[in-house]
Amino acid sequence: MSRDIVVAIDGYSGTGKSTTAKKVASELDYIYVDTGAMYRAVTLAFIRAGVESFLSGKIKTLLDEVDISFIKNSSTGLQETYLNGENVEEQIRGIEVSGRVSEVSAISEVRRKLVEQQRSMGANGGIVMDGRDIGTVVFPKADLKVFMTANDEVRAERRWLELKEKGKHISKEEVLENLRSRDEIDTSRVDSPLRQADDAILIDTSNISIKQQVKDILILAKRKLGKDI
Ligand code: C5P
Repeated sequence: MSRDIVVAIDGYSGTGKSTTAKKVASELDYIYVDTGAMYRAVTLAFIRAGVESFLSGKIKTLLDEVDISFIKNSSTGLQETYLNGENVEEQIRGIEVSGRVSEVSAISEVRRKLVEQQRSMGANGGIVMDGRDIGTVVFPKADLKVFMTANDEVRAERRWLELKEKGKHISKEEVLENLRSRDEIDTSRVDSPLRQADDAILIDTSNISIKQQVKDILILAKRKLGKDI
């Protein structure tokens, strides 16, 4: 009998990670968790609480008050992020949160809280989770690990188009600058840096479509599932 597996998808921003993970989850009829949205929601809470919230003494109090959940929008069918019951999907994608999220994600207390929630979400398998540390820290024993990378100019172009489609007009240079600075902080932080797990399969998405990425990961996932039949 096949069992439900854990699929961990890590990698850089703008590689098509979230879009691909979402489609893979829907094809497998699995839960999808966008862990980047969770770090973004905490960042929004920190920004709202003011600059002093970034000071170590305030972090614990603030984290105790933060509750993050995902709810499916019944008209679009898409999952949206809620912070203490408020739909913050729009706000967490803006440049203000993008500009500070890596700083907040480097704080160990923040990671500890979110990793605990992520582990309980995936405790029964049947999940596709995307992020930066899923295969290395959250689920080091995940059945399938994928690490996605791509040329940074291609990634910036994709992110810029995505923002433009949502009516957010910022320059491509600004998007590229944000991606590079997040990459730098994410890969060099002490706690759970972004890196490819030894047993993760590397996919360079610079020249492949989302459709192909989904197809490749589904083949890998089905192979894993097949082994258990
Ligand atoms: O995936 P997304 O680009 O929305 O993630 C935003 C930021 O959240 C990343 O640049 C990174 O700083 C942080 N993050 C993280 N660990 C994760 C997911 C996201 O540190 N598992």
